[in-house]
Amino acid sequence: MSNHAKLSPSASERWLVCSVAPVREEAFPDTTNDAAEWGTAAHAMAEHCLTNGIDAALASASYFWDKYDGPEMRECVQRYLDFVRSKLTPTSTLFVEQRLSILPEFEIFGTADAIIVDGHTLRVLDLKGGKGVLVEADDNSQLSLYGWGALDSLAWLASEDIQFVEVYIVQPRRENIVSKTFTAAELVTWMDDNREAARRAYAAVAGDVATPGAHCRWCRARNTCRERADYNMATAGFDFSDECTPHDPNQLTEEQLVAIFLRLPTLEKWMKDIEGHVATLAHDHKVHGLKWVAGRAMRKIADPVRVCTVLREVGIEPMAEPKLLGITEIERLVKEKGLKVSTLLGKAIEVVASKPVLVSEEDKRPEYVPAAHDFAEELAQ
Ligand code: SF4
Repeated sequence: MSNHAKLSPSASERWLVCSVAPVREEAFPDTTNDAAEWGTAAHAMAEHCLTNGIDAALASASYFWDKYDGPEMRECVQRYLDFVRSKLTPTSTLFVEQRLSILPEFEIFGTADAIIVDGHTLRVLDLKGGKGVLVEADDNSQLSLYGWGALDSLAWLASEDIQFVEVYIVQPRRENIVSKTFTAAELVTWMDDNREAARRAYAAVAGDVATPGAHCRWCRARNTCRERADYNMATAGFDFSDECTPHDPNQLTEEQLVAIFLRLPTLEKWMKDIEGHVATLAHDHKVHGLKWVAGRAMRKIADPVRVCTVLREVGIEPMAEPKLLGITEIERLVKEKGLKVSTLLGKAIEVVASKPVLVSEEDKRPEYVPAAHDFAEELAQ
């Protein structure tokens, strides 16, 4: 058995920057959850449908997806199938759940959900079953690795020289389909630029110095990682002495406030991780310096029937007006009936932009330019 940490393409966002992350993560169990199992079941159903040329509605019961089977999964899988099939042409070849040898010298392998070889183009399609974080195609190292792996493993099958590699994210539950097109030369260069980082991660040992940053977010070692703590403590102790703008020493400048503002999400995430981890420890055993105390007492209705009867006796109506369900709940119930919210309710449901969000100038979203008279109102809502 190998002594090297396993380098998975899905964790490449971490190990391309922090080479020690994979080996440190080995000390923590790779637990699964309902969302991950849901995704695995959806992939199994999608593979079955693509391999057998059927729609999701025709997939029969199976051990691989029965636990999560239902209208939501069938619709998610069908949208993926429709998209993959829309990319097929009479001359294309489809590979389903294709094992890829990405960088075998560093034991980096992967499985692409679907690959289409078509003339001088390779298409790599990745189904994402999540409905939480929106997955992007830009700067997505997992997709680049799959693109490279497909190019390296399958180019010989193409009737023409592969010139383009298109990588797609298909995330039906977020209505998200995004893609990125590389020239074959760009992917070769990208891999050349990152091969050394892969080698470092492959050779890393747990005592090596870690490199913290935004990529720590999903690292299994994040709760106890010393370097991440140092990084965040240094961030929290931001040194303003370098700021040379003359200003009142007792007042933060606008630049300093922006510097603090931009660090808040990282600090908040770290503090929540520490809070959760320490609570888990204290749940398991007595932690020196901490104790549990009773939570804030809250009143609760123990006998609703009696409360209603007594209140009506004194002339008070205890029941509130019926309240319309939220859109998510309506959507769930409509889907359970095999219907679609958009066709059933049409313009009765409209999409309304929420409050503008203040982010770094480097964020890829286009700048929001409101009509001047609307802006104060929107922020005040
Ligand atoms: S928490 Fe961050 S710095 Fe620490 S090992 Fe993981 S990725 Fe590296």
